[in-house]
Amino acid sequence: MTTVPPLTSPLPGSGTSAASPLPPSAVAGALRRGAELEREIAAAPDRFRVVTGDRPTGPLHLGHYFGTLHNRVRLQDLGVEVFVLIPDYQALTDRDVVDRLAGTMEGLLLDYLAIGIDPSRSTIFNHSAVPALNQLLLPFLSLVSVAELGRNPTVKDEIAHSRQASVSGLMYTYPVHQAADILFCKGNLVPVGQDQLPHLELTRTIARRFGERYAPVFPQPDALLSAAPLLLGTDGGKMSKSRGNAIALGATADETARLIKGAKTDADRNVSYDPESRPAVSNLVLLAALCRDLDPHDIAEEIGGGGAAMLKRTVTEAVNTRLAPIRARRAEYARDMGYVRSVLRAGNARANEIAERTLEEVREAMGTLR
Ligand code: ATP
Ligand code: MG
Repeated sequence: MTTVPPLTSPLPGSGTSAASPLPPSAVAGALRRGAELEREIAAAPDRFRVVTGDRPTGPLHLGHYFGTLHNRVRLQDLGVEVFVLIPDYQALTDRDVVDRLAGTMEGLLLDYLAIGIDPSRSTIFNHSAVPALNQLLLPFLSLVSVAELGRNPTVKDEIAHSRQASVSGLMYTYPVHQAADILFCKGNLVPVGQDQLPHLELTRTIARRFGERYAPVFPQPDALLSAAPLLLGTDGGKMSKSRGNAIALGATADETARLIKGAKTDADRNVSYDPESRPAVSNLVLLAALCRDLDPHDIAEEIGGGGAAMLKRTVTEAVNTRLAPIRARRAEYARDMGYVRSVLRAGNARANEIAERTLEEVREAMGTLR
């Protein structure tokens, strides 16, 4: 049995699924750059500052775990400074979630702590609590054109999947807001799933244009993809909180079994790993492989002619085994919500200090009077 490479190396076929609106070349380029970045991080982790986050639009799922969360903890443990953002304003882009925002945010905090984000080394914050960060949005908006915002393939895809009657202005501008989320602390490394690549490109453009127009205040951050830059959900599309196709980290073992039982497969009894021609089956094979730290080809071979039923049993057991300690820690933290909320308060205090300093630099660069 071969073990899979660390989660930063591409697995065959990853990033080329029909579920993505991005050209495969964009994903391949990011994966190549990721290999260089890994060497730079290993040599000098203190040169990097990680910023990344998850919209509080629902519970975190396996796509988050293997797409970005696992990488955040790995980078934290390598000595990189990590900022984890709950972008609560961005929850308002494409659905009505305000009535359950606080509960959803608490769920995210529990997930972060349960997977191993350590508040003594990493900063967890929410951007509505950091006013100076949000002020950066205004000068940044002036640096991009309406046509550029309208061309973003991820935003177009999200609009297509949103069930809103009309599209809000926030929906078109949230990638610019995201640039503020990253640049307020001069983040230069962003572990994300592949849907975020166009947003990262826009952040780089804004940082560069700000430098050209005013002064070089901001770095141009890099995206860091994992070995599962696009995990599919039970319906064969991108696993998303919003698409009813996700397996939540905090789900029970029984719920997990039920969801995997309903996952899409195909008619061929012989299980193989071929993401191009068999995306749904290969995604389940990949999921079991990621959970067990094995090569997906070995998982496919193990199941062989056992068909979809055996594949699903294997995946269910692998997911529940991998998540059991995380779920146990989650339940433990949930018994002390006072502590959990204090983690966010401390993170917000630190994020505010940094955002104030950056905003001061921005004002100086722009020559505004105070
Ligand atoms: P929503 O449906 O509300 O957009 P989401 O499931 O897409 O939710 P986000 O909060 O938009 O989750 O994404 C948070 C982070 O998780 C981003 O870095 C994103 O790239 C990553 N991510 C989300 N879904 C997946 C997935 N299926 N595979 C890999 N990474 C993912
Ligand atoms: Mg999303």
